[in-house]
Amino acid sequence: MSRIRIIDLIKSKDFDKQIHIKGWVRNRRGSKNVAFIALNDGSTIHNLQIVVDFSTLGEAVMEDVSVGAALAIDGKLMQSQGAGQTVEVIATKIEVLGKADPEKYPLQPKRHSLEFLRDIAHLRFRTNTFGAINRVRHSMIFAIHKYFNDNGFYNIHTPIVTSSDAEGAGEMFRVTTLDDKNPPLTEDGEVNYKEDFFGRPTNLTVSGQLEAELAALALGQVYTFGPTFRAENSNTTRHLAEFWMIEPEVAFNDLNDNMDLAEDMLKYVVQYALDNCMDDLQFLSKRLQEEEKGKKENERSPELIEKLRSVVDNEFVRLTYTEAINILRNSKPNKKKKFEYLIDGWGADLQSEHERYLVEKHFKKPVILVDYPKEIKAFYMRMNDDGKTVRAMDILFPGIGEIIGGSQREERLDVLLSKIHEIGIPEEEMWWFLDTRRFGTVPHSGFGLGFERLILFVTGMGNIRDVIPFPRAPKQAEF
Ligand code: ATP
Ligand code: MN
Repeated sequence: MSRIRIIDLIKSKDFDKQIHIKGWVRNRRGSKNVAFIALNDGSTIHNLQIVVDFSTLGEAVMEDVSVGAALAIDGKLMQSQGAGQTVEVIATKIEVLGKADPEKYPLQPKRHSLEFLRDIAHLRFRTNTFGAINRVRHSMIFAIHKYFNDNGFYNIHTPIVTSSDAEGAGEMFRVTTLDDKNPPLTEDGEVNYKEDFFGRPTNLTVSGQLEAELAALALGQVYTFGPTFRAENSNTTRHLAEFWMIEPEVAFNDLNDNMDLAEDMLKYVVQYALDNCMDDLQFLSKRLQEEEKGKKENERSPELIEKLRSVVDNEFVRLTYTEAINILRNSKPNKKKKFEYLIDGWGADLQSEHERYLVEKHFKKPVILVDYPKEIKAFYMRMNDDGKTVRAMDILFPGIGEIIGGSQREERLDVLLSKIHEIGIPEEEMWWFLDTRRFGTVPHSGFGLGFERLILFVTGMGNIRDVIPFPRAPKQAEF
């Protein structure tokens, strides 16, 4: 008999029918005459209740049925009398496919701390929380590709190994095959990268943007969705050393078009989660509420599903960096010196405490900030006529801070050249990028969405290391 997945079985009304299922034991309980097994096969957050009647099967069938063990079960589907489920299965045969020694198996049917689960990240997929997160993560990957495909974008694979370090000075991971104990040296005693695998220094990419621009200026509208790497030593709940980034790039779009695209895409994918992941979201919402029980009322996060709906239903607020600085300068936490970094003048980079104040306290909606000081933004952003600000945009989300960073790109060759000279990027290394401005240049725009920050938002989790299966962070790469 072919296996039916639990997600399909719990919707079924084929009562009294013989069925075959496989999965892992999440819990077992029972009495003298009967045992109940909670079985999960990963297809859904819901467990299937298996009823084992000792008078027909004998007590011995339960011997190796412990939490974590893998089972194959034949049985009859029944309408459930018990609370919490609509169907159950009366077992006619139980086969233990893989035992899990209860003395050694680290997961038990109780609440484990997220810290503990990070130490056994190889097993944490087996918990309700990580099952839910990874199913939501999958749906978001799918929704993003669907959004761009439905809107006529082409997916471009940009390189993971790159020799351009224009964007990531100092925070890139070197890629080399040179002997680390005895590297070839130049006459000046420096490592001779001409003898390295690629004949030049190479790194893991920090962004696919520059390459996506090349494609956008021919294909019109493209997006990348790939891994990016940053060797910044920031041990925060919002940073990973390896994360996934979505980077659309669109020819002929100005900054307003870019904001419209970003807002539309975010609303689409959040709505997709509401339409397709409700079981997991409800579980995650309860999990969050439990976790926040200890917090003061005004420090608790909003209910998860309500929070997601409010993003879909509200227009994002759009304002300039300068307007935001004025709001922050006059804000209570600034006047009462509650911010760690006080805002006293124009030009400062915003910290996540400022971003979150604007979103969570002041506007109570997602915010898009535009026109940042040129000094704190990347070289490729388009200069405004004021000579002080660039056409940058950051999208700020409740509980997260920056979720998207983007801009209209500088399409004028002379302005771009003077910018890269000013900050000391060697022109000869950028010749291929500058060629787009030499031949058929047009205004264009794009942005980068940090995929794990999106998943943090959608799942209501608090630490970015819990929303990627195998987190990479300073001193953390075991699994
Ligand atoms: P931040 O200021 O939060 O460190 P950033 O300005 O350095 O971010 P960008 O270079 O603008 O980030 O990257 C685009 C997007 O990628 C960000 O808006 C964010 O969502 C995400 N992102 C950036 N750095 C990381 C990281 N280390 N881990 C996870 N996501 C990141
Ligand atoms: Mn940014």
